[in-house]
Amino acid sequence: MRYARLVDTYESLEATTKRLEMTDHLVDLFKETPPDILDKVVYLTQGKLYPDFMGVELGVGEKVAVRAIANASGHPESEIVRLWKETGDLGTTGERVLERKRQQSLFTQPLTVEAVHSGLDTLARASGRDSLDAKIKILSRLLHDATPREARYILRTVDGKLRLGIADMTILDALSLAFASKEDRPTIEAAYNRCSDLGMVAVYLAHGGLEAVRDIHLKLGVPLRAMLAERVQSMEEIFEKMGGPCLLEYKYDGLRLQAHVFGDGRVRLYSRHLEDLTDQFPDVVKSLRRSIKGHEAIVEGECVPVGPDGEMRPFQEISHRRGRKYNLQKAMEEVPVVFFAFDILYLDGEELMDRPLPVRRKRLESLIREGGGEGVRLSTALETGDIKKAEEFFQESIAAGCEGIMAKSIGEDSVYRAGARGWQWIKYKRDYKAEMSDTVDLVAVGAFAGRGRRGGAYGALLMAAYNPEEDVFETVCKLGTGFDDETLFSLRERFTEHPTIHPRVKSEMEADYWLVPEVVMEVAGAEITLSPIHTCARDVIRKGSGLAIRFPRFTGRWRDDKSPEEATTTKELVEMYRQQLKKVG
Ligand code: AMP
Repeated sequence: MRYARLVDTYESLEATTKRLEMTDHLVDLFKETPPDILDKVVYLTQGKLYPDFMGVELGVGEKVAVRAIANASGHPESEIVRLWKETGDLGTTGERVLERKRQQSLFTQPLTVEAVHSGLDTLARASGRDSLDAKIKILSRLLHDATPREARYILRTVDGKLRLGIADMTILDALSLAFASKEDRPTIEAAYNRCSDLGMVAVYLAHGGLEAVRDIHLKLGVPLRAMLAERVQSMEEIFEKMGGPCLLEYKYDGLRLQAHVFGDGRVRLYSRHLEDLTDQFPDVVKSLRRSIKGHEAIVEGECVPVGPDGEMRPFQEISHRRGRKYNLQKAMEEVPVVFFAFDILYLDGEELMDRPLPVRRKRLESLIREGGGEGVRLSTALETGDIKKAEEFFQESIAAGCEGIMAKSIGEDSVYRAGARGWQWIKYKRDYKAEMSDTVDLVAVGAFAGRGRRGGAYGALLMAAYNPEEDVFETVCKLGTGFDDETLFSLRERFTEHPTIHPRVKSEMEADYWLVPEVVMEVAGAEITLSPIHTCARDVIRKGSGLAIRFPRFTGRWRDDKSPEEATTTKELVEMYRQQLKKVG
């Protein structure tokens, strides 16, 4: 199939924003595509080469792109760079430059979809010492064979900027219309939810119709789409929605992982968005391998950092494992993690996702208990229909360091609904009573000495908002969460201490150290409340009271780009407080 045919559709898609028209264009394209390459057409239309979980990333640096266009066009690189700056779009740049190419080479051959896909695939996989040259060569060859119009889209694809706005759901619509009917859409979507691979669903559908699609099963190494939860604001609502007893579980504040354990001991881990995270969690891999030894299983759980005392730690302490430069070995030693298993979808050849939750839970319990081991535990759960017991369970979960609870239906229909958000799972978090909708940027004005593990370092900071009318900083909270160890122990170095309270700071709280108000930090919180002790907006809402942020947490973002005078103002906090009242009321 000619790549030009695909490009025709790209252009039509770009010319409309109406979903129905987009679907029609895709239907035409899919019907014309030979079934064997339908998967490639689907991936390419989404600017990819494979489904996301395969982790094959397209992308070339500026050097490769510019050099390849230069090779294919004979134009100097400087001119290409200049044009790229001017247009801001690599695709248009390549197209224009190639249009100016005087004569078409004798050796050009029409590009096919297969050739583009395989070229881009080789490009994406090139690694190592000579990869730069290899990439330039591959891209040059593709551009050499491309018409200027084709070059536009090839370049946008490698630049990660194809952006045709085709959502998965639109592709599913188009596939149903092209190869089945509108009514069959749920069957097709269910298949997609099991395999997370639109290309595979497309090929099965085009070859074998609905029968083939119904036959798509769970497979180790192919993640299914995650089941999602609805939220409620009160415990009463949980039981109203459930209509009777349900299974309550701690809602861990960590990272959701879908673990695929193979019979031979291999393990693969996928995020909630189905990225392959195996390499970031060798410790979890090891624990699961030990704990689920000799079985084949797909298990879901939340991965949480746990301190030496067995206490759960803030999630931020593992979030930076994702940075490439991070020393993983050190991270694993300093912040061990525990995988709290909460569901099982597959065990030793048997698909469990269509079985009710109580059946799955039993299987999960015996599997995890049989394995034992440190790094893998069962989620703490309680089956109840009693609201008082539920309240107690909620309080226990908060005390244990969790965010709240998950309530899960235990009826006959409590199957695992991959890819769906529904009332079978309900989350109820501590912060909901009046959630602070936005983060704020606050200035550190004081510090408190750390105790225990934080001894010798700052244990918490006194944070303030800016009052421009009086040009002073007024305190709003004591900030002690959201710091990883590394940040915590280097905290003192970031600030300038001041022997007494700084003249531009208004505080009624006694800090152990006073700081020069110069460092701005981003802070999230649960809610803004009235406070007898903080000085922010004192007397504005109520005589004798100021405003405070409850459960403040450092987001990890140092706002070095902001001067203290650019911090959130007291007036803004008053406005946020009023908004919040409106929401609750
Ligand atoms: P949220 O991210 O607020 O939408 O809440 C849903 C998330 O809670 C899930 O994606 C999981 O990452 C997490 N979670 C924590 N504990 C549990 C649990 N026991 N069952 C299901 N999900 C959980």
